[in-house]
Formats: sequence, C-alpha cells, structure tokens
Amino acid sequence: MTRSDEPRATGSCLCGSVTFSVHGPLRDVIVCHCRMCRRLSSHASAFSACAPGDLRVAPGRNLRWYRSSPSARRGFCSKCGAQLFWEPAHGGHISISAGSLDEPTHLKIIEQIFLDAKGDYYDVVTAATDAHLQPDRPGIAKKT
Ligand SMILES: [Zn+2]
Repeated sequence: MTRSDEPRATGSCLCGSVTFSVHGPLRDVIVCHCRMCRRLSSHASAFSACAPGDLRVAPGRNLRWYRSSPSARRGFCSKCGAQLFWEPAHGGHISISAGSLDEPTHLKIIEQIFLDAKGDYYDVVTAATDAHLQPDRPGIAKKT
C-alpha cells in the first residue's frame, strides 16, 4: 500500500455489509432540512462530501441507488436501509452521510440548508439566525 492509498476516512452502513473509504479531502458537514431528506431519514440529513474519484466502495451487492429527483440519486444499503450517499447528476462531488463515517471524523457542521422547508415540529438556531434572535419571531428558537 502506498502512502496515497491510506484513506482519509472510512465508513459503513448499520449492518456493515456496505463499507467504503475516502482517499482525498472531506468537506465539513452540511445539514439539509429539505422535504426529501426528511422523508428519507426521519429528520434532517447531515452530509460530508468528497470528489467522486476519491470514494471507494468495497465490492458487494447491497449498495443500491434510488433516483430521488431528476438531478440526484441516493445510495443506500438494501439490507439495513442506511442512507449513505447523495450524488448529483452533474457529478461534481458525492455527498456522504456524516453518520456513516467512522470516528474521529475531524469534521464539524458548517451550514444548515433548506431551512424554509424544515418541519414544523422543531426550530433551528444557526450562526446566521443567532445574530438576529428575536424572542417573538416565529420559527426561530430562543437561545437559552
Ligand atoms: Zn447495511
């Protein structure tokens, strides 16, 4: 194994039948509150990302792909159902479920997106909203 073959990160689904490694930089984590992510994962989704060529999925038959929209498909384990990847049709990157990564990830959440599509049962405090916190403003949690 050459030095460049040492993975930056490794990860797997819940049952362990899909395993992967990342051989390049990982982006910090973006949390997505869109309707599709919430339908699929029970709540918001949290994804890191890498260049498509840097992701190596171990050979096996359990990784399946679901085309969730014309512009993207989602990779999941057909045995345990874990959501693992989100791949845009333009192929510029591949998103990796943050929860599937082995720790320590050395990553942090840097952004929350599609807040206008978040569920009505929770509030989100972000750095952006935190600066404008108003206790009476609906949809924004009061910092305690
Ligand atoms: Zn699995």
